[in-house]
Amino acid sequence: MPSGPLSSVEPAAPQPEVKARLAAAVEANRDAILELSHRIHVNPEVAYEERQAAAWVAEELAKHGYEVLAPAGTLDTAIRATRRGGRGEDGPRVGILAEYDALPGLGHGCGHNTMAASGVGAAIALASIADELAGEIVFLGCPAEERGSGKAQMIEDGLFAGIDAALLFHPCDRNHVESQPLASEDVDIVFTGLQAHAASDPWKGHNALDAMILLFSSVGLWRQQLRPDARVHGIIQEGGTAANIIPDRTRAWFMLRSPEQAYYEVMKARFSALADAAALATGTTVEVTYSGGAMSMHRNRTLEARWVANAAAYGIEDQGPDPNSGSTDMGNVSWVCPTIHPELAICEEGVAGHSIRFRDAAATPRADETTLLAATLVAGVAYELFADPALVEAAWREFRAEA
Ligand SMILES: [Zn+2]
Repeated sequence: MPSGPLSSVEPAAPQPEVKARLAAAVEANRDAILELSHRIHVNPEVAYEERQAAAWVAEELAKHGYEVLAPAGTLDTAIRATRRGGRGEDGPRVGILAEYDALPGLGHGCGHNTMAASGVGAAIALASIADELAGEIVFLGCPAEERGSGKAQMIEDGLFAGIDAALLFHPCDRNHVESQPLASEDVDIVFTGLQAHAASDPWKGHNALDAMILLFSSVGLWRQQLRPDARVHGIIQEGGTAANIIPDRTRAWFMLRSPEQAYYEVMKARFSALADAAALATGTTVEVTYSGGAMSMHRNRTLEARWVANAAAYGIEDQGPDPNSGSTDMGNVSWVCPTIHPELAICEEGVAGHSIRFRDAAATPRADETTLLAATLVAGVAYELFADPALVEAAWREFRAEA
């Protein structure tokens, strides 16, 4: 039943009865949602190549009255699908996010099939009450979380413009809403020197391998001065071509990480200085290229509290933040609008992410139930935002205070 007359612009307070209908809509579409999860699971596609998954997701959204833009922006496999509320545009734009990329050689070892399906499930549930809402439901299908940073590109493409909140569930071996992903970037280093015969006239050369060894030594010493939660790790990809040639070119691939964006920027500047110093000491030149990458996460406790309350209604107790964080481009989104990235268990605790066990868990009956629950909870939080403008305001107030 609509929560008010269609002519009214007065927001209604969130109604438990509406939440029950959201859950019923997920249940009514159970087969389609789970079939999508399983189809993506058995057809894994890596970052930027999720063509089938994106097509299947777009197809499902179109069936439920969404206006689908695919591809959206510059990425071939990005989706932006919208559905306006029946009570006018004077309301929030709530972002329902989904991911669908797999890991090379492993498949859906991060369980993104459940994220695609639960995002679609939440969008379907919200579509069933769209006539009663003011504002806009915005579904964002986000490619390339595992490599590169699809969401960073989507932000640059303007696809997050005007979004009031971004909601994205991730599968896990625990239930928790707080996550502390690390700011992270790939760094490509190339030292260029001058070749010479290593025995007859080595003094004529400029040794690019010496520069690389100096850089690794400097990084090793630097670690003592780094905060315990910072990370720097790298490998040498090119170290020279023969022992009797002074190497004129070496190449390395490093990664830098920190949970704090400001500290990450300090690390980056210092890392560049170490590379410059190694070049100066060896008479070589250096090129340092930062990939652009995942940023740290701005928490939004206002939205987190709504997730926790919605989950508690289904008997889910929050187990506290995951101490072993990787990196995600959902961090980038958290610098643009109020964001939550809650996780729910799809397997027993202790199963590592990015593993065969986690991949297999992502298609079990337990993962299916979690996928459906995630769809209901995401839709529930989204509905609260539509129904309560004060909640949207509070989320933004916190966002601005953090920024
Ligand atoms: Zn993931």
